[in-house]
Amino acid sequence: EQKAVLITGCSSGIGLRIAVLLARDEQKRYHVIATMRDLRKKDRLLEAAGDTYGKTLALLSLDVCSDDSVRQCIDSVKDRHIDILINNAGVGLLGPVESISMDEMKRVFETNFFGTVRMIKEVMPDMKKRRSGHIIVMSSVMGLQGRTDTPNLLCHTAECSTVRGTIEPFRVMHLAEEHYDSQIWHTWFGPPWEGSRTMTLSLNMSLLNLSAGVVFNDVYTASKFAIEGFCESMAVQLLKFNVKLSLIEPGPVHTEFETKMMEEVAKMEYPGADADTVRYFKDVYIPSSIDIFEALGQTPEDIAKCTKKVIESSRPRFRNLTNSLYTPIVAMKYADETGGLSVHTFYNLLFNFGSLMHITMSILKCLTCSCLRRRTISPD
Ligand code: NAD
Repeated sequence: EQKAVLITGCSSGIGLRIAVLLARDEQKRYHVIATMRDLRKKDRLLEAAGDTYGKTLALLSLDVCSDDSVRQCIDSVKDRHIDILINNAGVGLLGPVESISMDEMKRVFETNFFGTVRMIKEVMPDMKKRRSGHIIVMSSVMGLQGRTDTPNLLCHTAECSTVRGTIEPFRVMHLAEEHYDSQIWHTWFGPPWEGSRTMTLSLNMSLLNLSAGVVFNDVYTASKFAIEGFCESMAVQLLKFNVKLSLIEPGPVHTEFETKMMEEVAKMEYPGADADTVRYFKDVYIPSSIDIFEALGQTPEDIAKCTKKVIESSRPRFRNLTNSLYTPIVAMKYADETGGLSVHTFYNLLFNFGSLMHITMSILKCLTCSCLRRRTISPD
């Protein structure tokens, strides 16, 4: 029997690709309801979806920021029956906080947080009644928290200090036996119980890539943290009703998201920000960010394939990173519960190591590709 899948934000990027991939499923297991704010923007989707439109693909208009629009859209679905809800619609916001108006910040929360909550609120009661359903939320590595789902790696305590950007010594004191995974352990941390330069190097190198992603995305990051917190709480209740909830956490993805943000940046005038901050933003952050998208970015197809895997898994995980290069965020948060390690490492990497970016990325790629793959969901 076909499953009804409703997806938000399908006029471009990841949402469009998920809609097409599911509508084109060879076994025709999905009836895709692709939604977008403005149906005049449907052409790209329809072109990519080919002859599936009218068969496994339907189009509806939906603005996640409007109660009426959400209600009307769900009411127009047959029996309001949605098996899988994919909350994909989202907006970004870049720049020094001093320069951003409160209204702009609220707009991000309105879409990324309240928009998702509004959708869940509308669809979840029917899922609960039916004792079945799966809610997917497109989060981000920028929405990751300390308690990330990493069954392979549990570091209980760690000692660390940062010396000129190098974490040294870094000794992870205890690894829960049942979660021991020697391959991952050795790659990232060296032999258990011993500080290791190799580990230091690899951890540093990988974090460099992440650092430029996080800074100056403060409000966007906060909106994704907010939705992760909401979901962490909801997942517990939903389990009781046999409704599944999964977060997809991509790193950089080549979509209009990136282009739209860069266009915004070009127009920015930075009222209220001091010259140093503007310089860090324009001369350090923006070039590194572009590098990162180029070097590490995944395609929206990759994210669509990961999402399909999560939907089709018999026991879907709650958290699903799509890019294994970003797993060090998780390791770092486990390693220092006080949070100091993250802040100081990002600081050192962004402001003291910027020029090493290229070398770093290639080393990192070699280091991580095979051994950490199983902690992430891969598109293939
Ligand atoms: P995108 O800009 O191509 O897609 C976002 C879509 O959401 C657009 O089609 C837009 O029209 C839609 N949208 C915005 N506000 C809406 C509203 N009020 N109602 C309905 N639709 C609305 O970018 P994308 O990269 O495909 O982004 C999709 C999701 O992936 C977002 O939630 C984003 O935060 C997340 N994400 C993106 C990246 C990335 O690097 N591109 C990385 C991690 C997570």
